Amino acid sequence: MPELPEVETVRLTLAPQLLGRRIRDLAVLHPDVVAGTGVATDDFRARLVGAEFSALRRRGKYLIIGLRAPEGPLRLVLHLRMTGRLVVVPAAEEVPKHTHLRFVLDDGRELRFTDPRRFGRACLLPGAGGRDGPRGLRELGPEPLAAGFSAAELGRRMAGRKVRLKALLLDQRFVAGVGNIYADETLFRAGLHPAQRACDLDETDVRRLHRQLRRVLRQAIGQGGTTIRDYVDGRGRRGEFALALQVYGREGEACGGCGTMIERAVIAGRSTRFCPRCQALKAPNGAP
Ligand SMILES: [Zn+2]
Repeated sequence: MPELPEVETVRLTLAPQLLGRRIRDLAVLHPDVVAGTGVATDDFRARLVGAEFSALRRRGKYLIIGLRAPEGPLRLVLHLRMTGRLVVVPAAEEVPKHTHLRFVLDDGRELRFTDPRRFGRACLLPGAGGRDGPRGLRELGPEPLAAGFSAAELGRRMAGRKVRLKALLLDQRFVAGVGNIYADETLFRAGLHPAQRACDLDETDVRRLHRQLRRVLRQAIGQGGTTIRDYVDGRGRRGEFALALQVYGREGEACGGCGTMIERAVIAGRSTRFCPRCQALKAPNGAP
């Protein structure tokens, strides 16, 4: 569930709490979180104890924590998946159920990774940078908020593609960080039907899609992300953007633009909300 704005908010709220802090000790309570990432649990712990937090970056929905460890620089790549939380709390605070990792910091606090659904993963990589890491990370498309991601670039990437807009926005190789919430909200704000094929958009449509995608992501970051159920930021606070959602979770309610009932349909295999009037399907390009 956490998408680009939520992971970015976690990054922004963790950075001032972690940068310059040292890991005094580390408990791996559920080895699942490290399993399959190429580093044994004991080794994971041994390499990280004594390390200092030196950078916090984000790529798509991945959080990349840079560390200066006794044996050289390391990167800890985290994906929160459905229900993962990464929060800094006083060490004395009760340890909640489903806590997988406890990083004991040198200031009497702990960074804790909790995840009831257990899909989240922590992958340890050597070096301060590079193109290595989990396959999902290596294959990510451009960052939608990057300066270089222009409407023209979006148009080039969409040209001639028959895939539906909903599927395209969810494809992490096409654009990084967008999930179900922000795909639906972007398409509503851009007035585009989620089942529209990418190749049917004209230049004006592409510009509108580009503008609304960036706008909704920025607004959501400004509101600390969207909390539907589990998500909290690095200080344990809920995001406020749920109040600004126009279609996501609003099926059966009146559209804020035209009063028509918001519909829900399965498009590209995912539950999708849209206004059938504000987001009418356009005729295909080249149709008579
Ligand atoms: Zn409407």
